[in-house]
This record gives sequence, structure tokens and C-alpha cells, in this order.
Amino acid sequence: MGHPARIVVVGGGIAGLSTAWQLARRGARGVVLVEAGPRLAAQATAQNAAILRTPMPDPVGEALGREGAAFLRAPPPDFAPGPLLDACGLLLVTERGSAGERDWSARLAARAAEVRELSAAELARRAPHVRGAGTTAYLLPREGRVDVPALAAGFERGARAGGVRIELRAPVRELLADARGVRLADGRVLAAERVVLCAGAWAGALARAAGSRVQLTPTRRHLFVTRASGAVDPRWPVVWRDDQPFYARPEAGGLLLSGCDEEPVDPDRLAAEPGQLTRTLALAGRFLELAEPWQIARLWAGIRTHAPDGRFAVGPDPDLPGLVWAGALGGHGITCAEVVGRVAAQWILDGNSEHPLAAELDPRRPAAASAGLALQR
Ligand SMILES: Cc1cc2nc3c(=O)[nH]c(=O)nc-3n(C[C@H](O)[C@H](O)[C@H](O)COP(=O)(O)OP(=O)(O)OC[C@H]3O[C@@H](n4cnc5c(N)ncnc54)[C@H](O)[C@@H]3O)c2cc1C
Repeated sequence: MGHPARIVVVGGGIAGLSTAWQLARRGARGVVLVEAGPRLAAQATAQNAAILRTPMPDPVGEALGREGAAFLRAPPPDFAPGPLLDACGLLLVTERGSAGERDWSARLAARAAEVRELSAAELARRAPHVRGAGTTAYLLPREGRVDVPALAAGFERGARAGGVRIELRAPVRELLADARGVRLADGRVLAAERVVLCAGAWAGALARAAGSRVQLTPTRRHLFVTRASGAVDPRWPVVWRDDQPFYARPEAGGLLLSGCDEEPVDPDRLAAEPGQLTRTLALAGRFLELAEPWQIARLWAGIRTHAPDGRFAVGPDPDLPGLVWAGALGGHGITCAEVVGRVAAQWILDGNSEHPLAAELDPRRPAAASAGLALQR
């Protein structure tokens, strides 16, 4: 089968950039990436916590995360000037004796080479700010923090080098009939054999207006960064509490904190709600101990976009023959960017995907086109 002569990628976040890079690597020609804003990678891709955490409640997500992690640890030569991953470690902390702990201990046992249960003394040494009493703590020393700008820049550089044309300030107003192209806000029409929808929180509305049944829900999550303090050691690992979702990692001399709030939001009306601070600080006080009072240097809200079953939507649309999705990346789009773009490029260029989990991500699965919201953390 020949490659489509023209491919339009809608959206220049991590999904669009990875897809464009994968298309370029496969030798596709006539690829145009259109980004609504003045800069690439400026929406969800700039709002996230940049954590590589592969243990996930959903085994499909976990398998994709591990594939993404392999890329982040060993990208192709010349992809980026430095490492993409700071392997500061991920500390998964659960309540001892809880159902969650039993579940994690069974699942992590299968990954014994990558995970270590810490003794109380080791925990106090590695992460003295964590309240350890009554907990079990698992350390994944090879996980940690991703250099998101370097990842996005690597995809962009490779895409451009492979001939992808990138247009900024080029919002798509609508998909053409059957998604055989797009109409831009300035009235221009870009006809194409394939349109790849990588528009993050805005993708659902664009596709729905063109007749797609795929349902996505954008949700809001807050992040807080405390003031720089000598009490914070920048080498501490990422701390993840799974029983009562909360995470913290060093950032800019302070700590980045999230209480993992999650509520549906209109992406055009995204605003931080200072009230979330009280809730997050209460969790921080419960799970961490730091002598100093918490003072907040920065706070923001970001958007995580989900399909009803919490899995990604990567592959053909059920209703629009020209459309391929690379979206619904929820809270894992940075971790999984490479594999998402690879699977999307397979659907575009080969008309199918050889990835063993492709069917689980296929937007034609019943769950992606049904109402309801069951979020994956
Ligand atoms: C608070 C928070 C914490 C997170 N933490 C992590 C983490 O620790 N680890 C991790 O792996 N992931 C994390 N994520 C998830 C990750 O950030 C997302 O999954 C990922 O960035 C989604 O990328 P995207 O390309 O789909 O969307 P986006 O980055 O939002 O990109 C979509 C792009 O499409 C453009 N666009 C929209 N509409 C149009 C249009 N009509 N025409 C043209 N362009 C359009 C937008 O301008 C935007 O640039 C987090 C997310 C949030 C919000």
C-alpha cells in the first residue's frame, strides 16, 4: 500500500510532535503540522509534572509506560543533546496492610529486577521528608523526571529534518467531510488523505462537530510549587501516594505538589482555583514532614483529557474514514509519547498497527464511543 500523499497533523503538543517525527522517520512525504497557538508544546505538554512513573492501575497503561520509558532512557543517537530522563527514582508509598498494598506487592513482584521494597531505615535515608510510619515503600530507582522541553525539541527537530512543514498560529476551524482535510480559521482549506487528530483537550469537540462518536472528557488538575528552601534536597525521589492520590517531587529548590484533583473542565476556560491549595496542603501535611511552613511560589492548572475507559485513543475514527486519532493521553502523554506516535504512524501509513496493544487503544472500541467517565489515575 502506498503512503498517503498528504497528511495533516492537527496540534503541536507532544502527541502531534511525536506522530510527525514517526511519520518523517518512516519516510512519509507531504506532512503538514498545524498548531493553533504561536508556540509548540505550550498546552498540556507545558502544564504537566514531567514524571516517569510506570506502575499504573491499568496493565495496558503500564505496558505502554514501560515502552515509553525504554525510549526515554535510550533515545536514538542525536535525538537530544543530553539525557531525557533524570533517574532520581520513584517512591511508591502505600498504607501497610491495605488492599492497595497487597495489590501493588503482587504486581510489583513481577518486576523484581526494577523495584525494591525499602526498609524503614532506607526510607528515612532516601526520603527523610516522607512520613513512613504504617506504610510500605517501593523504590523504582530507574524512574524519575523527564526533560519535557528536550523531548519535544527532539521530536520537532527530527520532524523538520524529515520534511514535515510546521505552521504556527494556524487553528483548524473544522474537519472537512469524512475528515479528508481541514479548514483553517483563516478560511484556507488543506485537503488530505489522512488527518491526524492530536488536538489534546480540543480534539473531542472538533471530531464531534464532524460527526464522530468518540467521546473525550478534558479534566483539570492543579500543581503547586513551594518556595525554595534549604530543607528540600533536590536529589529526593518522586513520592507517589496511591491510596489517597498525591505526589511530590523536588522542583526549583522547593517541592512540586499535587493532590491529584480531577474535574471536567471547558478547555477554553481553564483557570486555577486557589481553593485547591488548602486540600493539597492538607495531603502534604499528612504524607510529608517538613519543619518549615509551606509557602507557595507558583501554582497552575493543567488539562488531562480522557476517554471513558481511561485508555488512550490511538487509531482510526469509527465514523470519519480520513481520521486517525492520537489523543486521550490523560496523565501519561509524556511518558508514552514515543509509542503513541509510533502506533498512530502505523495506522496512517500501513492502515493497521502491528503493536500488540493496538486493539486496546483503537478508538472504534465500544468504550471510546460511549458516555460516562471512569478515570484512570
Ligand atoms: C497537571 C498535569 C500533570 C501531568 N503529569 C504528567 C506526568 O507526570 N507524566 C506524564 O507522562 N504525563 C503527565 N501529564 C499528561 C501530559 O501532559 C499529557 O498527556 C500530554 O501533554 C498531552 O499531549 P497532547 O499533545 O495530547 O496535548 P497538548 O499538549 O494539549 O497539545 C494539543 C495541541 O493542539 C493544539 N490545538 C488544539 N486545538 C487546535 C486546533 N483547532 N487547531 C490546531 N491546533 C490545535 C493546542 O494548541 C495544543 O498545542 C500531566 C498533565 C497535567 C495537566
